[in-house]
Amino acid sequence: MTKKGLQLEPISSWMKVNRPVIISGPCSAETEEQMVATAKQVAATGKVHAIRAGIWKPRTRPGQYEGAGEEGLKWLISAKQETGLPVTTEVANAAHVEACLKAGVDILWVGARTTVNPFSVQEVADALKGVDIPVMVKNPINPDVELWLGAFERLNKAGITKMAAIHRGFSSFEKGPFRNAPMWDLAIELKTRIPELDMICDPSHIAGNRDLISFVSQKALDLDMTGLMIESHINPDAAWSDAKQQVTPAALSKIISELVVRTQSTDNKVFKDTLSILREQIDQLDDEIMQKLSARMKISEKIGQYKKENNVTILQVNRWEEIVQTRIALCRAMGLNDEFTGDLLKLIHHESIQVQTKVMNKVAERV
Ligand code: PEP
Ligand code: MN
Repeated sequence: MTKKGLQLEPISSWMKVNRPVIISGPCSAETEEQMVATAKQVAATGKVHAIRAGIWKPRTRPGQYEGAGEEGLKWLISAKQETGLPVTTEVANAAHVEACLKAGVDILWVGARTTVNPFSVQEVADALKGVDIPVMVKNPINPDVELWLGAFERLNKAGITKMAAIHRGFSSFEKGPFRNAPMWDLAIELKTRIPELDMICDPSHIAGNRDLISFVSQKALDLDMTGLMIESHINPDAAWSDAKQQVTPAALSKIISELVVRTQSTDNKVFKDTLSILREQIDQLDDEIMQKLSARMKISEKIGQYKKENNVTILQVNRWEEIVQTRIALCRAMGLNDEFTGDLLKLIHHESIQVQTKVMNKVAERV
């Protein structure tokens, strides 16, 4: 039982493979030939542990390929028989669940557009009552860890214990290099809340572009994720969905073999001793940083008092601009990243305003 009250069985107990677990296959099952040929070539790499394919496709706009439906499930099962690998697909409602259970799909996943909707997640969970099948849950498209967590809780209440999270990035209005902003800290937040929950990264939907898949995959492994789900297709450019992000089985094989898999820890004594010396230095520096911040806030308090006595506003835009400019220049010279310095200053400034507001209100109460 996790401290969040979840009953979980680790991926190693239901996939029986070492990290990283690799799941691959087409975005969508398009035809029996495409499905089976892709699965066979992917399996022939010897580096993949399960085959994926979308059967019902949630498309943003109507008129795009919406999946083969139940007919496609037969192709997925043929892929399973031809390769001997377990197969997985996305389910969004009770009918999908029933069709998958009847067909013999091994692992289910809840897609990003379904995780956002507690009604749909509950419907999937209810359809799974009394069934022992692994279910992976993609992050919701909006950056909300609670919603992601809620889906695991609903499934767990229905008796599902073989669960894993899939990090596929988040929709954002701003266009960056990625199709879906990875917002790694949200994945880290879920992992921190439920350390026992295995997390698989889906670099294909984060990247949206095959050239970035290696980079995202390596980053995910370096963040100690359990595995990867990468879309592959025998002829990616001709794919009926997500063409730009799919890779050939040969490219998939290259991506996997170039990954550096680091261990969580090591028994190497020199490594452990060096790490503990470095950690002591970090502890010492954190202590100094906190003391300085505390001293800085005490001065802010004095300034608040002084401003009050002289009837001066808390916010002094010119002073704030000067602080930002000088500190960013200074920190840049010390090798710190401008964005980091800016974020840190905003946090400090925000707290300083809070402290001064408190002082002013206190004085006001006495008047
Ligand atoms: C998919 O895996 O093909 C898919 C539709 O993903 P997501 O739910 O992450 O958009
Ligand atoms: Mn896709």
